[in-house]
Amino acid sequence: MQPGSLARHGTRCGRILPSTAVSGALQSAGSTMPEGHTIHRAARDHQRDLGGRLVRVSSPQGRFALDDLVDESGRARLLRVEAYGKHLFFVFERRRIVHVHLGLFGRFYRRKSPPPPPRETTRMRLEGDAVTIDLIGPTACDVLTPKGMRAITSRLGPDPLRADADSAPFFDHVARSRTPIGAVLLDQSVICGIGNVYRAEVLHLLGIHPETPASAIPEAKVQSLWRLAVGLLRRGVEEKRIVTTRGLELAKPRERVPRAEATNVYGRRSCRTCEGDVSTQTLRARVVYFCPSCQPRSVEAQQFAGLV
Ligand SMILES: [Zn+2]
Repeated sequence: MQPGSLARHGTRCGRILPSTAVSGALQSAGSTMPEGHTIHRAARDHQRDLGGRLVRVSSPQGRFALDDLVDESGRARLLRVEAYGKHLFFVFERRRIVHVHLGLFGRFYRRKSPPPPPRETTRMRLEGDAVTIDLIGPTACDVLTPKGMRAITSRLGPDPLRADADSAPFFDHVARSRTPIGAVLLDQSVICGIGNVYRAEVLHLLGIHPETPASAIPEAKVQSLWRLAVGLLRRGVEEKRIVTTRGLELAKPRERVPRAEATNVYGRRSCRTCEGDVSTQTLRARVVYFCPSCQPRSVEAQQFAGLV
């Protein structure tokens, strides 16, 4: 089937559904960019639902070129789904890969098959025998060859959630960079998967001011930072949300911990550790949360800020 015919099919069927028809979002709604744990969890769930199966692939919105991905019946076998930082790759047979970056507004919706007609805004529908996944609003959704996939992953730093992650380039970069660590942690070419929430929480848990030049942080502490990132991100994959506070395990089911109680400084007015005021400042165009008491400026951070 040609892409055009799929698009026409989608247009014909693409009436707007009542909102109650959309259920099972894999991430909570919110204005924050999905971080690596969300993407890895989506990869795991999609692999469970559709991995190894013949899947009907369509683009109801018609903005996603299927090229030679599907056969005459509009289907292709999905070999595996993998995540790399904030990028998701659906690896199909015939060396074709669908690359997805959710960006700020992208969402996956999981439905039982056969699904209701898609929304007009559905960028991609993956329909298996039992489960259908709809993708709406991604920043990127395109078909790549393995070479195209490598072009993307080669630009990314190590992903703490990947079993094959090589952390050495991250340590090397940190050791020679005068860039504030708060900016380094959001640079996807240095370490990928960490977003604004994990950035704030990791630095707080280690008592590091976000303006501290990366190379001023002792090597042992950088290693702690990597291990902490791995641990927190893995926890996020399991729990499908970011929870960085301690001591809540016995208090109530994790999913019922309110968002404001799930972090120490991010999105909060007061620090959960010392109850002092949380500060925010813009660092490389992104707002960073930190506690001035728990994360005092080092001499190096003061020099960076021009305070001494
Ligand atoms: Zn504090």
